[in-house]
Amino acid sequence: MPGNFDVVIIGGGINGCSTALELSSRGVKVALIEKDNIGDGPTGKSSAIIRQHYSNELTARMAHYSLGVFQNFSDEIGGECGFRRTGFVALVEAKDQAGLEENVRLQKGVGIRTELLPPESLREIFPAMETADLVAAAWEEDSGYADPYLTVNAYAQAARRAGAQIMTNTAVTGIRQQGGKVQGVTTTAGDFVAPIVVNCAGAWGAQVARMGGLEIPLHACRIQVSFFKRPPGHEAPHPVVVDFINATYFRSETGNLTLVGLVDPAEANAIVDPDHHSEGVDTDFILDTGERLIKRYPAMERSDSAGGYASLYDITPDWHPIVDEAAPDSGFFLCCGFSGHGFKLGPATGRMTAERILNVSQPLFNPYLFRLSRFAEDQPVRGRYEYSIAG
Ligand SMILES: Cc1cc2nc3c(=O)[nH]c(=O)nc-3n(C[C@H](O)[C@H](O)[C@H](O)COP(=O)(O)OP(=O)(O)OC[C@H]3O[C@@H](n4cnc5c(N)ncnc54)[C@H](O)[C@@H]3O)c2cc1C
Repeated sequence: MPGNFDVVIIGGGINGCSTALELSSRGVKVALIEKDNIGDGPTGKSSAIIRQHYSNELTARMAHYSLGVFQNFSDEIGGECGFRRTGFVALVEAKDQAGLEENVRLQKGVGIRTELLPPESLREIFPAMETADLVAAAWEEDSGYADPYLTVNAYAQAARRAGAQIMTNTAVTGIRQQGGKVQGVTTTAGDFVAPIVVNCAGAWGAQVARMGGLEIPLHACRIQVSFFKRPPGHEAPHPVVVDFINATYFRSETGNLTLVGLVDPAEANAIVDPDHHSEGVDTDFILDTGERLIKRYPAMERSDSAGGYASLYDITPDWHPIVDEAAPDSGFFLCCGFSGHGFKLGPATGRMTAERILNVSQPLFNPYLFRLSRFAEDQPVRGRYEYSIAG
């Protein structure tokens, strides 16, 4: 299929596929190139939690908009995303109480249905939850989680229906440029000609940027999740919980399982080669997450481990993405560095990136906050918690 296109997108995760759909449905001739299969990368391994609790207006608006897409997925995109509305709760200790309250004010201001809840109300929502140590909690009744593999493949199908050409099992090996402008890409299936190339390569984002002669501050980091089988009497799904006190998050998974991960800035230290890293879970991680889970959900003392796996975050220094053109009029765009919270933002990110590429004068989401130069300017995106992953 090599040929001439308006835009070549590198990467078939949620952001590449969402951008492909947004561009194709505006009449742009798009080729999306994925080295494996659609969603085989970190998107397909995502915990796919869809919450709106963010510290910045832009990310809160993006999460809110995207939730609307997940809620009406078959009408908006077509196909299934497996969205389950379980509700979401964020739990903090005293030092983060003011930040939580400020976040909830900000979120309400952009139309998010969220509220501060006292421990006794939380026990009504999730009776098995330990609340003795809680100072403050924020609740979102509309949030939950989706099936990331279904979602990304539905996006790819929708992009195809809108006219995008999607090449799988094809790796981009070079970005061709002349006089500082992109000419297209070289791949294992031949050359694609296009004046615009978009780097949606996630954990491979720095590698792909280097093909275009650009160094970006992005690392592939190995991230683990574990599963525990809930004991008898706990078969019903529970809300998604982000427990900043025990630095964990957990949600229900099919098969009467609870999926657990960490919200720990130290995860940024687990830098690996994205092509060579262990995809299994460590026994230590299972033991550690199990102990943390029991602190919040004591009945899980009677649970059995059901294993886990490891995948990759594409982490930037401020845990926020880069959505920008590498240099003015270069035609080389970046949409990567989502640092462990990019699945839920995917629908909005596709729109943001497409509107940036098309130079829409009043975009729905202005990506200025995510400009590449913020790192050199020492103007990182700041959240209200030390737990950067919360955004
Ligand atoms: C364990 C885990 C849990 C997570 N939980 C959540 C969560 O609960 N909520 C949330 O919002 N986010 C979560 N995330 C983060 C979220 O999944 C990611 O931010 C998002 O999926 C990134 O999507 P992407 O499209 O940018 O990149 P990716 O999914 O990484 O896709 C990039 C694609 O580019 C391809 N590629 C790379 N190099 C090349 C090349 N040279 N040629 C062709 N193709 C190439 C790769 O094969 C890959 O498929 C989680 C991530 C992980 C790993």
